[in-house]
Amino acid sequence: MLKIDILDLNLEELETEFLNMGLKKFNAKQVYQWLHQKLVFDFDEFTNISKEVREKLKEKFEIGTLKYITHQVSKDKQTVKFLFSLPGKRLIESVLLKYKNRYSICVSSQVGCPLKCDFCATGMMKFEKNLKCSEILMQFYYLQKFLREKNDKISNVVFMGMGEPFLNYDAVLKSINMLNSKEGQDFSKRNFTISTSGLINEINKFTIDEKQIKLAISLHSVNDEKRSSLMPINKANPLAKLKESLINYQEKTKNRITFEYILIDDFNCEKEDAVELVKFMKSFNHLINLIPYNKVEGKPYVTPSREKQREFYNYLVSHNLNVTLRETKGDDIQAACGQLKVKKEEIINEKNN
Ligand code: SAH
Ligand code: SF4
Repeated sequence: MLKIDILDLNLEELETEFLNMGLKKFNAKQVYQWLHQKLVFDFDEFTNISKEVREKLKEKFEIGTLKYITHQVSKDKQTVKFLFSLPGKRLIESVLLKYKNRYSICVSSQVGCPLKCDFCATGMMKFEKNLKCSEILMQFYYLQKFLREKNDKISNVVFMGMGEPFLNYDAVLKSINMLNSKEGQDFSKRNFTISTSGLINEINKFTIDEKQIKLAISLHSVNDEKRSSLMPINKANPLAKLKESLINYQEKTKNRITFEYILIDDFNCEKEDAVELVKFMKSFNHLINLIPYNKVEGKPYVTPSREKQREFYNYLVSHNLNVTLRETKGDDIQAACGQLKVKKEEIINEKNN
């Protein structure tokens, strides 16, 4: 009999399963706490559950399908990249980032990404599948356990790893709700950010479903022609319509929207781009995150000089926009934004050494 991954079940679903198995409802809550609060992933360590019940659980369930393979620490020790495997020899990465004694984690939502933005390393991989809720949760749990050993903990979660989270809407939202649950990590929804390339239907759905989770939009240009050349999804989700749906989001949720804007030399950070961006932002309570383009092998794009980045930043600031210019972090271990792309050959080499 194929086993059910117990980490895919929220508390209510687990209680229903327990009742169907002729087990007690309160046992379901205890099991849920072992898994999602204490992060213990071995049925035999559930000391308040009888041996008989534990045996029944082992027959019916497995605990997670994501396996830790290795991790790499950047030279400045502020960034750690984790590699995990999934059934079918699939590989994903997650990143832990330290900033002023707070830890953010960047999690993946898909293996590869079908949207194929031209600048992105993940887009170069073959799209294989959406991650299951359990596989998203396990990224958080491994990194949380890694930090617990150092008496630290995760402060923020961003869905900016591999994949487009809104193409895996249900599993992403379910994982957030489970991490938020009192019997789990009790992790505030305000500390999650979902980054999307700008899928309008899903933004509209999200506006109705969730008021607390933060939203980030990968903008990169406010000119349709340029944006479409970078991001094919702009054709079906053009800027005017995207803007309309974001204005609606803002009215309904009162949340500030983060806009990510990659700086690519000779492409989207000239004076005219800045002028257009200022106009676009007039409608929004916004934060613009300028991200100097991270080099991806085989792509023609160039990172502008620091001076040019500053000029663009200064223009926006002088027109009263709310802007941060990101420092590149973790690029020595290919862990910076958009650089996540698992190279199977490298891993095989590493193992052979
Ligand atoms: N699919 C989602 C989330 C994952 S990508 C999205 O596109 O928003 C996370 C962020 O990294 C996005 O803003 C994306 O545009 C950016 N990114 C991708 N490739 C990059 C690169 N080479 N340099 C800098 N940022 C990049
Ligand atoms: Fe997918 Fe985001 Fe990369 Fe675009 S930038 S290919 S949406 S992961």
